[in-house]
Amino acid sequence: MNTEIQEILPYNVMNRYFSVTKTGLAQCHICSYYVLGNIEILRAHLEDYHPYIAIKIQQSIKCTRLSQYYTLVTDYEARCSFCKEIIDIFEGISGLINHYMSHYVSK
Ligand SMILES: [Zn+2]
Ligand SMILES: [Zn+2]
Repeated sequence: MNTEIQEILPYNVMNRYFSVTKTGLAQCHICSYYVLGNIEILRAHLEDYHPYIAIKIQQSIKCTRLSQYYTLVTDYEARCSFCKEIIDIFEGISGLINHYMSHYVSK
């Protein structure tokens, strides 16, 4: 049993890409492989096997207005120019937009 992943995954950005089975294995939505391990291992799976996800998101940041609001600090991290918070690129474009919008709806 790997209860840690069962508890963490539903609230983690990786839940976009993996669903967890009753036995604690995470199944990749893209290649259907089962991955055993923690969030870091799931992330490493995406980086190793599906690097185009990050590339696609990086390109979208560069090609859209999001580039005004985010600076890529690493291949997998973007910094918000309002609050300087680092956003995980695997949040996807919708995650970046949601974060950006939160600056307007919160206060
Ligand atoms: Zn996969
Ligand atoms: Zn921000």
